[in-house]
Amino acid sequence: MVIKTADFVKSSGKWQECPEPNIPEYAFIGRSNVGKSSLINAMMNKKDLAKTSQTPGKTQLINHFLVNDGWYLTDLPGYGYAKVSKVQRKDFEKLITNYILNRRNLVNLFVLIDVRHNPQKIDLEFIQWCGESGIPFSIIFTKADKLKGNAVVKNVDAYKAELHRTWEDLPELYITSAEKKEGCDEILNFIGKTNDF
Ligand code: GDP
Repeated sequence: MVIKTADFVKSSGKWQECPEPNIPEYAFIGRSNVGKSSLINAMMNKKDLAKTSQTPGKTQLINHFLVNDGWYLTDLPGYGYAKVSKVQRKDFEKLITNYILNRRNLVNLFVLIDVRHNPQKIDLEFIQWCGESGIPFSIIFTKADKLKGNAVVKNVDAYKAELHRTWEDLPELYITSAEKKEGCDEILNFIGKTNDF
């Protein structure tokens, strides 16, 4: 898919405040600092569409971008902040889980994982929740350029092994680097394939 236009629409603090769910939507989520903004910017061929390196935990808003006048790319706030209170975390979890469960135009959720790390409990729990809730989702490994040799394959295999403990069929997996613009076309092709834009 060629990106012709990508424009910021709105930031929303509640799922009910989000734009009308009248066109297909693809959402991106992951822990803070996973490289979500960088990947969105790389895919959309824009430098500052999604802000990079915001203070973790500060902005817990849902950001909608309109792409090619046909679909929403949604930047969901990162989960797993260490620096917020339990109450804040609960409110925040409610915001994203309500959003994901209630957004009827959501075609696919992309769960971002930093490929440099061993399988992390918080990511595995989130993926588990997606699977149990019947959410259509894929996994995107980020920052592949930061690893050398076969370390990417090794870490992806470790994740696969963890997921296979529960699930026989695994979701679609993408290996990306925002820095090198790797994997962006594959994700956009998937989006194009699942809808007729
Ligand atoms: P976000 O909090 O998930 O939106 O993460 P950011 O996009 O702000 O990225 C966090 C940090 O990781 C920044 O310093 C980025 O420059 C860096 N980063 C993000 N993606 C990549 C990547 O693909 N390769 C490399 N080398 N660094 C990256």
